[in-house]
Amino acid sequence: MKSSKKFDYIVIGAGIVGLSTALKLQEANKKVLILEKEKSPGLHQSGRNSGVLHSGIYYKPNSFKSNLCIRGRELMLEFLRTNEIPYRLEGKIVVDQDVDKILSLFERSKSLEMNGVKILEKHQLLEKEPNSKISQGLFVPQAGVVNYKIVTNTMSEIFKKNGGDIEYFQEIVNISDNADTKTVESKKDIFSGDFLINCAGLFSDKVAKLDGLFPKVKIIPFRGEYYELITEKSHLLNNMIYPIADPDLPFLGIHLTKTVDGKIEAGPNAVLAFAREGYSWSKINVSQTLETITYKGMIKLGRKYIKTGLDEMYRSLNKSAFVQEVNKLIPGVTSSDLIKRPAGVRAQAVSENGDLVDDFLFEEGNRSLHVLNAPSPAATASLAIGEYIASKVLN
Ligand SMILES: Cc1cc2nc3c(=O)[nH]c(=O)nc-3n(C[C@H](O)[C@H](O)[C@H](O)COP(=O)(O)OP(=O)(O)OC[C@H]3O[C@@H](n4cnc5c(N)ncnc54)[C@H](O)[C@@H]3O)c2cc1C
Repeated sequence: MKSSKKFDYIVIGAGIVGLSTALKLQEANKKVLILEKEKSPGLHQSGRNSGVLHSGIYYKPNSFKSNLCIRGRELMLEFLRTNEIPYRLEGKIVVDQDVDKILSLFERSKSLEMNGVKILEKHQLLEKEPNSKISQGLFVPQAGVVNYKIVTNTMSEIFKKNGGDIEYFQEIVNISDNADTKTVESKKDIFSGDFLINCAGLFSDKVAKLDGLFPKVKIIPFRGEYYELITEKSHLLNNMIYPIADPDLPFLGIHLTKTVDGKIEAGPNAVLAFAREGYSWSKINVSQTLETITYKGMIKLGRKYIKTGLDEMYRSLNKSAFVQEVNKLIPGVTSSDLIKRPAGVRAQAVSENGDLVDDFLFEEGNRSLHVLNAPSPAATASLAIGEYIASKVLN
């Protein structure tokens, strides 16, 4: 059925990035429609993540990730306070055997003018985390935790309350351009607007192609699996411990996080998923997997990181290997102390050269803008991403 309304902006995807963008456009009095293939918002990345409010310390200075994470964290905190969404801001400890890595992160915190970041000696670490095994670390007070599923739901409520339209069960399968209109078709309905914004996460490259673009990246799905520590052992951690990530891989490595509701989570790992929404080993989509493994960027990536990839798979299939990683941070955790919790799948853009695209990536089309890479910390950064997109498209 063809919708009779014409919108200023059509946003594809009711994840945290699509909703943030829609809210910012709505603030500028624009008529916005969000089209989402699922029955409710935030059912993919935005509702299946670690829930960390990132400080911005990890990312290359002046990158989108760095700037938008720092700005986005401020906007997110304001949003959480205004809407009385629970969060905790107790900081995290970043650890590494290599003291130089810690020092260089410390230097970066100074150049980013982050207050209160400090190097902790062993006795100071033990004061914060008496059960940890770590001997040196950096305390980053700006980090916190929140439930992004609640944030996403709240954003959708505000958007609707302010007169915004969200249509669920609308999987977009065709996009076309007429004289001054963008026509967007789902399997059942047709919508029209002046401008299209693609925030389709795990399918953003596909949607860009529907709009006639030839993105030089493909979304490769990397599953992140988690375990939760049983309640009897939850006293082992007070807050968050993160190893410093490999600078070549945009995943932060298995970390320990006390969630906003007080549970201790270990994870996520990063395992190649056999479907874009492959939340478990048994969820396999043959055509999507063939597309992934025959993509030249993936073949090159596979050659570079074959050992890392196999290690991740081994740890995924072998719980005791996962437990060993956890014990590197806090000893005394056994296999029976950890229970599985639902996994998430990262939408990670990979270039044709076989590089994991590190920064957020945006590409413009004809009266359209496509978000082609918005992995972590895009939940923290979401409101700043929305602000950035709005500033671009409103001009
Ligand atoms: C395991 C994991 C841990 C993470 N941890 C953190 C963290 O601690 N902190 C942080 O800041 N970030 C974290 N992130 C990153 C963060 O969750 C994502 O960057 C963010 O949620 C991306 O939001 P999005 O709106 O772009 O994507 P999504 O939430 O995936 O939303 C995209 C939406 O588009 C819809 N869609 C797709 N195709 C179509 C179509 N054809 N038609 C209609 N709708 C469509 C989907 O159904 C989906 O609802 C993590 C991510 C993962 C996976």
